[in-house]
Amino acid sequence: MTAILFLDVDGVLNTHAGWRAGHDGLRSLDPGPVARLNGLCARTGCRVVVSSTWRGGPYRGPDGCRARLRALGVRVRFHRDWRTGRDRSRIRGREIAAWLAAHPEVTAYAIVDDDGDMLPDQMPRLVQTGYELGLEAAHAERLAALLATQRSLASPSCTAASTASPRPSVSRPCSLVSYRLAGSPRRSTRTVLRCVPTITRTTTST
Ligand SMILES: [Mg+2]
Repeated sequence: MTAILFLDVDGVLNTHAGWRAGHDGLRSLDPGPVARLNGLCARTGCRVVVSSTWRGGPYRGPDGCRARLRALGVRVRFHRDWRTGRDRSRIRGREIAAWLAAHPEVTAYAIVDDDGDMLPDQMPRLVQTGYELGLEAAHAERLAALLATQRSLASPSCTAASTASPRPSVSRPCSLVSYRLAGSPRRSTRTVLRCVPTITRTTTST
């Protein structure tokens, strides 16, 4: 069984509570959520795919943000294809759907993210955290259950034919939030897209 956890970072491992406690997200992450993630991955044996904006962040080198995450205490096994690609829509659910379409061997997956811009058929697989506390114990329990539950291969997100499914319309009240990364000599400002999307499908009454 190949189980994949799609991992967001900001709002999952990097939290408001952590910032207030001195964990700035660059030199340290919120230790509680990191420990819960490590425990979850050790328990389930899942592989991690980074869906966070961290995957394309200011981390250079062949390991990208994986090296940074490891240095910050993240002890997980990343999938060989360790990050999602970019979709022009910037809808994270579409990026995850494309990754899954390229990996039909995946038998189960779960998504942990503090945003909700996933495709409708992915929503049951989403565990949404809050930016204040990030990954809490109840979230980890729910993720473990999802990772042990085989996904339906009839799901539109599981095949390349997913583009044939009704195109979701997405209302995205978004704002770009910039914050300074302490200790970063260059590119010291990270800009993240904060979205509260509403995804709806167009349905036809019969
Ligand atoms: Mg986030």
